Amino acid sequence: MNDAKKRTGYLWNTLYGWVDTGSGGLFPADPASGLQPISHHLAHPDTKRRLHELVVASGLIDHLVELTATPATREDVLRVHDAAHVDRIVAEGALPKGGDAGDGVSPFGQGGDKIAFLAAGGAIEATRAVVSGEVDRAYALINPPGHHAERATGRGFCIFNNVAVAATYALEELGLERVAIVDWDVHHGNGAQDIFWDSTRVLNISLHQDRCFPSDSGFRDENGGDGAEGYSLNVPLPPGGGDAVYEYALEQVVVPALEAFEPQLILVPCGFDAAILDPLSRMMVRVNGFRRMTQLIVDAAERLCDGRIVFLQEGGYSPYYVPFCGLSVIEELAGVSTGMTEAYEPIVSAMGGDELLAHEQSAVDAAGELIMRIGQRSEG
Ligand SMILES: [Zn+2]
Repeated sequence: MNDAKKRTGYLWNTLYGWVDTGSGGLFPADPASGLQPISHHLAHPDTKRRLHELVVASGLIDHLVELTATPATREDVLRVHDAAHVDRIVAEGALPKGGDAGDGVSPFGQGGDKIAFLAAGGAIEATRAVVSGEVDRAYALINPPGHHAERATGRGFCIFNNVAVAATYALEELGLERVAIVDWDVHHGNGAQDIFWDSTRVLNISLHQDRCFPSDSGFRDENGGDGAEGYSLNVPLPPGGGDAVYEYALEQVVVPALEAFEPQLILVPCGFDAAILDPLSRMMVRVNGFRRMTQLIVDAAERLCDGRIVFLQEGGYSPYYVPFCGLSVIEELAGVSTGMTEAYEPIVSAMGGDELLAHEQSAVDAAGELIMRIGQRSEG
């Protein structure tokens, strides 16, 4: 637990729990393919609503500064997306049965475009509150998620790239010059990589299960465009890793990369799908692993950028376990313990993932060799 109690912003909106993901489980229901309809799509918003309810029921909410989301403007979203994508989402949001973010497995219902603008606006508000000093740090429990959305299309349950919208807002509207993204969702942060590929103002670090999704991106040799080599930093991890490899990756790659970059703000696309009970990945992070990762990244923010750090909710698909993972992160940010995070320990404590294995260490060390490229931008 961090020592000092910090003013910690927290943002949720009831409509984030109203994202209509339809009746498919992952793919749309289709009798011809044997795909049955089901009430809970894998990305059903109940998982995030349950996290919010635990924040309230645990009493943690009383230690947080509640922030209020307003919708992002079209201009905010157009900083990172093509007009054709934004126009299509708005048009499909007006249809009685809604539309899809772009890949056919990311449905949204009527009015879903408005909730997407509200999620991007929540990311902006949390960022504004931290950069202005209104709060010391913030957790925005926003939905739908954003980190797979690329400049020209949404995908992977993501409509607009919330973290990219927030990063560009910080650069264009709040006067910052360098923003770091540390994406620990279990899937590759391909959207920010696409959007910031040629930028040296954004360091985009992604820790993810190797080829989990998208299966064709997130490799170490995707390292930034011409003139921005080093500024996209991928740390693909072998399946099966847990608390130990994530702690090692934070210590050996993420924190040294941040030290090289010297950000003025750190944004954390925070998924809980690297968790040990997640149905969409094969990693093994437990509640205390997320707590430790939070300690390390917050300590780096304190040293490097006056503590300015904003967590933005991404994935996480276990409605049982995500609330406890999220509670541990927000507790750590606020410097408060509710005593409610250990409920699943008897089940998960002996499953593994708490020991660093040789092949995991090699994968992290290989990514660490890329850090030296980060400082080379202005020398060229
Ligand atoms: Zn994910």
